Amino acid sequence: MLNDSEQKVIIRDGEVICPRCGESLTPEDLEGFSACPYCNYVFPRTRELEDFIVSQAVRQWVRHQQFPG
Ligand SMILES: [Zn+2]
Repeated sequence: MLNDSEQKVIIRDGEVICPRCGESLTPEDLEGFSACPYCNYVFPRTRELEDFIVSQAVRQWVRHQQFPG
């Protein structure tokens, strides 16, 4: 059973799972506000989360550059 004080942000391929409401969020959802749009849970700005947001943005940019149109 999960302890409230140990809510863990789950980061998996391409999405982040909100520890409060369980919705899967995209990097775009968190890029501006770092809060869940469904329940307003504020994600801690960990290095892991920052890296995820940046890496996803880069990946989309690279894909766009390699496969235009
Ligand atoms: Zn949420």
